[in-house]
Amino acid sequence: MTSISGKTTLDWERFAERLAPVEVITEPVLIKKRSRDFFWYSPILNDQLKRCFGDLVAVPKTADEMKHCLRLAHEAEVPVVLRGGGTGNYGQAVPLEGGLIIETTAMDRVLEIGDGFVRVEAGAIMADINRALADSGQEMAMFPSTQDIATIGGFVAGGSVGIGSLATGALREPGNLIEIRALSLEGEPQEHVFRGDDVLKIHHAWGMNGVITEVTLRTVPSRNWIACMATFDTYDSCYQAGYAVATDAQIQPKLASVVDRRIADYFPRLKGHIQPDRELLVSYVPAENVDLFRDVVAAHGGATELALDDAARQEAGIPHAFEFSFNHTTLQVLKSDRSATYQQVGVPDPADASAILRLRADLGDDVWTHHEFYRLGGQVVSVDLPIIWFSGPERLAEINATYERHGFAVYDAHADALEKGGLHNADYTHLAWKKRLDPKGLLNSAKSAAWPKVKDLSPEDIEAKAVE
Ligand SMILES: Cc1cc2nc3c(=O)[nH]c(=O)nc-3n(C[C@H](O)[C@H](O)[C@H](O)COP(=O)(O)OP(=O)(O)OC[C@H]3O[C@@H](n4cnc5c(N)ncnc54)[C@H](O)[C@@H]3O)c2cc1C
Repeated sequence: MTSISGKTTLDWERFAERLAPVEVITEPVLIKKRSRDFFWYSPILNDQLKRCFGDLVAVPKTADEMKHCLRLAHEAEVPVVLRGGGTGNYGQAVPLEGGLIIETTAMDRVLEIGDGFVRVEAGAIMADINRALADSGQEMAMFPSTQDIATIGGFVAGGSVGIGSLATGALREPGNLIEIRALSLEGEPQEHVFRGDDVLKIHHAWGMNGVITEVTLRTVPSRNWIACMATFDTYDSCYQAGYAVATDAQIQPKLASVVDRRIADYFPRLKGHIQPDRELLVSYVPAENVDLFRDVVAAHGGATELALDDAARQEAGIPHAFEFSFNHTTLQVLKSDRSATYQQVGVPDPADASAILRLRADLGDDVWTHHEFYRLGGQVVSVDLPIIWFSGPERLAEINATYERHGFAVYDAHADALEKGGLHNADYTHLAWKKRLDPKGLLNSAKSAAWPKVKDLSPEDIEAKAVE
């Protein structure tokens, strides 16, 4: 078996044999499929990554099988990329240097459900975790809109916020991630347990500094969530209503998404259910607080068009409301037109709707804003995930510059290095733990622009850079 990536010289047929009894995928077409994620949202990343493939896929079913994979990868010194559902947006799971892809989806057991927590294997699909929790009257504190295919390990290693984060905060906030267990990539893989604040040493490191095998997560009592949709004449009133709902201590929503009318026009499954050509507010509100939601909408001149519990939603043939929020909004547009893309932008003051009005006047017709609210340190914050009609990298740079001129920070969705997107800077704590858990630098190393500069230092010297 020759190298599919063209980047490695290993005898992959022999390596696959040695992996037994671990299940392997050897068909090139399937390996190529498992080498992709949702990087194609970005035409820039698509050009960079669409020809990057791994050489073999292993699908371990137990921690012992996982250890066997890691032991052999260490011995053969092959690059390793972990893969869950492959729904990341920045090519996090693309094997840039070829090598072994380890898919976690067969390690999917829900191990323990307690009061306020659930302990699961890393490959568990999040919708399955929520289903398993239902009998105990609980739900995950947050989940991404990709819950039907994304794994908890992928969310912890690659995600940041989700549906629920307006109530419970970002994934990294204290108490949301209770414990992470991770294996090192060494001759004899070791299990490391991260608890409390220490979970941040491994969270959101794109699988670069350890192989997550088990996660204990915060759960919250489940509520009868009503999917609410309201429409408005102007984006300004829609945003102000969204912010008022998001910050209202009585309403207690777990989602509030403000969507430009031109984006809402790309939601065919809402046609006939909401008025056309209106700015859209999407929210989840506990049943007992829906009247308060209606009041806020009315006070901002809007109309509450839908307030459906899950049974009524299904009967009406309407998708989950979260499919019109976060990055699913982009997906709805991309389903019709692949020339769309998006960006990730922080709003400096979420209460200042007039700043958004001024910004929108300065952005061209090729940028359609979409705001999400969530909680950080107890405060409601706002991010813009606009649809951008892509006409080239130069125009994208101009759009980014417009945002920045208005004081809005751009977290570039078109960069595939860990330090260039959400983080903005190198995380030397992540890198120090990479040196400890992956001394040969085999785990997804090409995703870190900073790793080559520190890889020969001791973990302590790398960590010291965090305070320099
Ligand atoms: C339509 C759409 C909507 C989205 N909405 C959200 C959202 O609301 N919030 C959000 O945060 N993200 C969102 N995302 C991004 C993504 O879906 C989530 O981050 C998701 O949880 C990733 O899970 P996954 O199993 O698909 O991970 P993958 O894409 O398979 O992997 C993600 C990263 O984690 C690493 N990894 C996977 N498993 C392990 C493991 N066991 N140990 C170590 N590293 C591992 C991979 O190497 C990769 O770097 C969205 C993406 C799409 C396409």
